[in-house]
Amino acid sequence: MTIRTRFAPSPTGLLHIGGARTALFNFLYSRHHGGAFLLRVEDTDRERSTDEATRVIIEGLDWLGLDRDEQTVFQSTRAARHAEVAYQLLEAGKAYRCYCTADELRQMREQAVAEGRSPRYDGRWRDRDPSDAPAGAKPAIRLKAPRTGETVVEDLVQGPVRVGNAEMDDMIILRSDGTPTYLHAVVVDDHDMAITHVIRGDDHLTNTFRQVQIFQAMGWDLPRFAHIPLIHGADGAKLSKRHGAVSVLEFREQGFLPEAVCNYLLRLGWSHGDLEVVGRDEAIRLFDVTDVNRGASRMDYAKLTNLNGIYIRQADDDRLTALVLERLAHRPELAVGAHAAGRIRALMPHLKERAKTIIDLADAAAFLAHPLPLPMQPKAEAQLTAEAKLMLRDVAAALAASDFTIAGLDAALRAFADSTGRKLGQVAQPLRAALTGSTVSPGIDATLAALGRDEALARLAAASR
Ligand code: GLU
Repeated sequence: MTIRTRFAPSPTGLLHIGGARTALFNFLYSRHHGGAFLLRVEDTDRERSTDEATRVIIEGLDWLGLDRDEQTVFQSTRAARHAEVAYQLLEAGKAYRCYCTADELRQMREQAVAEGRSPRYDGRWRDRDPSDAPAGAKPAIRLKAPRTGETVVEDLVQGPVRVGNAEMDDMIILRSDGTPTYLHAVVVDDHDMAITHVIRGDDHLTNTFRQVQIFQAMGWDLPRFAHIPLIHGADGAKLSKRHGAVSVLEFREQGFLPEAVCNYLLRLGWSHGDLEVVGRDEAIRLFDVTDVNRGASRMDYAKLTNLNGIYIRQADDDRLTALVLERLAHRPELAVGAHAAGRIRALMPHLKERAKTIIDLADAAAFLAHPLPLPMQPKAEAQLTAEAKLMLRDVAAALAASDFTIAGLDAALRAFADSTGRKLGQVAQPLRAALTGSTVSPGIDATLAALGRDEALARLAAASR
């Protein structure tokens, strides 16, 4: 059997990290089994669905590298098929026409509530002669659900979950205006797309019982279900804006790498021993949906940030340089051209050692793109005493004779310190201030080499004036 999974978002908002994790689990499960991972946009709610939300969802999936197979299915284009199946059920005697008016349904609900029962449809048209139908009234189609026994779902995460059939009423599958209900559309689509595994948030568990009844009424094979617990904020409450970023693209904005976000989301709710850093290939090799934890997981931004630092250190320097340049390009005070790009690329192996996010990295690299005069942080300014300025002139002369390789610069600085009776730090700190405008930077030799002879000497000249 070819494993086929799907991610089925409703395009009514952003791609939330809970949704992203659902997509990731579906992706990993299908890839692990050499199967297919499909996207179905559940845009049947025309009022709330927007093209913009669809675009954002696809952009988020692309950013996370969750590639889909086959064409994206838009649920709204399949309404005729949903209706067709509803009529098949009708013809097979598994569904019936219900002519209840909105008023009748309201009364039914009110009476049930008054009698302390749960508000359910009482099945009054289930066995009624269709010739009783009020003239001109448009019926809804309801599933003739089993009334005895129970519906059991062997969930791959939750284990067996069951509900007595007497608890469920005859649900509408096709509304009186001919539009399918959501529960019905999902079943028809999952069947037609030959989905073998439905992996989704456990907020859908109660829908599953009803969906199973439709599968069974059609005599269709059931997919396997896996309902994964939701993600909560660190305080245990439902994840919301006040906990920090919740949209996947917001994480990109905040300087996270997609592989770090994927790794974090994977570990949030799934584990393999104490493995923390799990790259894409290893995740595909190890992932099994039955290893997903049953309890809700809590979002931990500090842990994500740490993982991001690890992935930044592993990331390719050209890629990091491009990401940094993209950010610096928005800063009007910088001159982000080929020179700056070359300097940033040269220093990247050192810059990335300390950065936790791409924002950190861009901040740490900005001095390389700053035209003269360089802005000075107060602590750097304090380094540039009259005496230090005099020293910088001599240092500049010594460096001018160096070959400007890291090793050559290191040797020249040591020789300068030795010959003038200074400690290396006494030379390096004013030098760093002059070159970077700050008191923190990667090693002074690497910083000098990245700036290159002309720029480094120009900065020293400017600072020693
Ligand atoms: N469209 C549903 C949602 O966005 C998911 C339905 C499903 O996965 O079956 O929550």
